[in-house]
Amino acid sequence: AETPIETRLEAFRSRWSGTTGKMLIGGEWREAASGETFATEDPATGEKLADVASAGQEDVDAAVAAARAAFEGPWSKVKPDERAKLINRLADLIEKNGDELALTETLDVGRPIQFSRIADVGGAVSQLRYQAGWATKLQGETNEISAPGEWLSYVLREPIGVCGQIVPWNFPLAMACGKLGPAMAAGCTVVLKPAEQTPLSTIRLGELALEAGFPEGVINVVTGYGRTSGAMLANHMDVDKVAFTGSTETGKAIIEASKTNFKRISLELGGKSPTFIFADADLKKAIPAAAMGIFFNAGQVCAAGSRLFVQEEVADQVLEGIAGMAKMLRVGHTLDPETVIGPLVSQQQLDRVTGYIESGRQEGATVMVGGGRKEGAGWFVEPTVLVDTEASMKVRAEEIFGPVLCATRFAGEDDADRLAALGNETQFGLAASIWTKDIGMAHRLARRLKAGTIRINGSGGVDPALPLGGFKASGWGRENGRAGVEAYTELKAISVALD
Ligand code: NAD
Repeated sequence: AETPIETRLEAFRSRWSGTTGKMLIGGEWREAASGETFATEDPATGEKLADVASAGQEDVDAAVAAARAAFEGPWSKVKPDERAKLINRLADLIEKNGDELALTETLDVGRPIQFSRIADVGGAVSQLRYQAGWATKLQGETNEISAPGEWLSYVLREPIGVCGQIVPWNFPLAMACGKLGPAMAAGCTVVLKPAEQTPLSTIRLGELALEAGFPEGVINVVTGYGRTSGAMLANHMDVDKVAFTGSTETGKAIIEASKTNFKRISLELGGKSPTFIFADADLKKAIPAAAMGIFFNAGQVCAAGSRLFVQEEVADQVLEGIAGMAKMLRVGHTLDPETVIGPLVSQQQLDRVTGYIESGRQEGATVMVGGGRKEGAGWFVEPTVLVDTEASMKVRAEEIFGPVLCATRFAGEDDADRLAALGNETQFGLAASIWTKDIGMAHRLARRLKAGTIRINGSGGVDPALPLGGFKASGWGRENGRAGVEAYTELKAISVALD
């Protein structure tokens, strides 16, 4: 049974208020060398939750040095099955502390309480459980080659080394675990940097990692701003890989920074993902899925279905259905168990999203429902549907990262090439969903879409077994699945002459 909310709130306050969140460096909890801190707030009220250490160069250097020492030293001797056990123990501890961690994400991120247990805690645990299995499954190869002479060649798959992991604010705990899990499975060491808006759950994750028994220096946590500590990690000469999730703009900065030492990088960036609803689709399922595909988490989801293409014959019914949900979904305080739509993470995001809606109006789009901020405390935006949008409009081309759907009707016969061209009209290529009973059409369209994740006649969250990532400006490389864990390894070919 869940602990009552009042007890949980009291525990949260006594843990965080009046304290300075420290950083985990080499197994020790430290303040920033400069003594600098920043505040993190509850986006539903604007109230400060805690002060947290703001890392500078000295702190980042210390964390990287601790990760290096652990990587070259004790961690390299820990056997794969022991690494799997540690990852699973961390998952156990996250489950055990699930109520507390869910509340932490509700307050720090602004996730409605009814979702944080499943999306944040559930997401984190499923990542770790899946990734733990890889520790004992990663393999090299042996090869027969045809070069003159006789050779025995084998290919070792080795851990890359010290990894900087930079996480955004929309799913801090689950994404940190999605990055940590494969790194630990592969035998890497990490310096994790949560977003400045949402550092608290990652600090707790560091505490639980120590409790689980990870040796000191294997998992380090530095908190701070992107332009300081994030950039310092990305530029660091002794970091072997950076795994980044966040905006396309920052992704470009990470590419630049990686040139310092040719560190490996993986980039999971923005999206502008299309949903296609055909006239023959099961609308009882497609309408709520399309609505939640953009309104869930107030649209702050990289794979959000932010563009809708609906076939003319059912367009009125679908748009009215989605608009009806937009009006009905409870927008409100995140601790209210009935709340479905919480706030945006910050005032900055609120200004950004309302700015986009305004630009849509100016460029000639029609606001069918929503279209403004919700007055009062907190950074709330009404679920919004824009119709009469054109491909050239900013609202339809750029990632808004808010609860704003751009809807477009399509008429005429089903033509996979024409529809795929609509789907592929933006610079992004992260995800897509397709609703139709014509399964041949669904597959034809899926093949032509440039998107890393495609769902047909269903919706869902992240499955850690499936590769996750984007085509085009949505990123480089894949997280999750075999590809995701192999991205934490280097190959080394060794040949021995037999004659
Ligand atoms: P961001 O890319 O600036 O931040 C993401 C992470 O990168 C944070 O931890 C941040 O501290 C860090 N960071 C920022 N600048 C950095 C730099 N120069 N070097 C290294 N690390 C750096 O994202 P944001 O400004 O918080 O949000 C802006 C937009 O990004 C959103 O509106 C949305 O479009 C997009 N976004 C996408 C995702 C996603 O899941 N794909 C997540 C968050 C934000």
